[in-house]
Amino acid sequence: MNEELQTLRNWLRESQRIAVLSGAGMSTESGLPDFRSAHGLWENPRVTELLSATCLRDTPDQFWKSFREAFLTPAFHNAKPNAGHVALAELERRGKDVVIYTQNVDGLHQAAGSQSVWELHGNLRHVYCPECGAQYAMDQALHEPVPTCRGWSIKRNSCEEVLHPNVVLFEQNIRHMETALRGILSSDLLLILGTSLTVDPVATLPSMAWQASRRTVLINLTETDFDPYANLVMHTRVGQTLDSALN
Ligand SMILES: [Zn+2]
Repeated sequence: MNEELQTLRNWLRESQRIAVLSGAGMSTESGLPDFRSAHGLWENPRVTELLSATCLRDTPDQFWKSFREAFLTPAFHNAKPNAGHVALAELERRGKDVVIYTQNVDGLHQAAGSQSVWELHGNLRHVYCPECGAQYAMDQALHEPVPTCRGWSIKRNSCEEVLHPNVVLFEQNIRHMETALRGILSSDLLLILGTSLTVDPVATLPSMAWQASRRTVLINLTETDFDPYANLVMHTRVGQTLDSALN
C-alpha cells in the first residue's frame, strides 16, 4: 500500500464526523458521463441555454427534448452504485457520522445505502408543478413530450402547467448551501470526491473548510485549482481508492 493510501486509511479510521462533497467523477465508475468531458448534448455550445430555466419557460418542448437527451438515458436508468458509493455507506455502517453533499442527480449514494445525503443539484426521481406544487415520479411524467400537471389549481379548474424536473437548472441557485457549509465546518474530515471544483458556488465550500483547518482529502482524476490547499491529493479513481482504503 502506498503512503497516500495509508494516510487516507488512517484518517478515515481516526475521524468520526466525515463530510463528503461529491461530483460527477464519483459516478463515472458507474458508467455515467462526466459532463465536463465531451459527450453528446454536452458538446453543444448551447447546452447551458438549452437546460436553463429560461428555455423551460419560453420553449418547453425544446427544453424537455434536451433534458431527455441529457439525463433520461439508458446509462442513467441502468446505473448502479460503484465501489466508491458502497465504501461511503460502509463507513456509516461502521459507526461513522457520514454526511454527503452531492452535485450528482443520479441518486446512487442513496441506492448504496447512505442515509444522510443532501442533493445540491436536485434529483431525477421527481418532477414538480410550479403552479400547484404537485409532485410526480419522473417515470409518470414521460408519457408526453412536454409533461403537464394533472392536478387542480385554485386559479384554474385543471392545472395543466408545464412540469419542472426536480433538478437545479442553469440560472437557478443550488440548494442546501448553508447546510453544506455548516456540515463541512462541523466535520473533522472533508472528502472531496470526483469534482473538479469549477462550478461556483460549490467550489467555495472547500476553501471555507481549508480556512477552518479541517483535514481535507481530494480524490479526482485530474488536477484542480484546489489541489495546493488540500492536505492529501490523489489523482486516482474514487471508487477503487476508497475501496482500497477501507479493505
Ligand atoms: Zn399543477
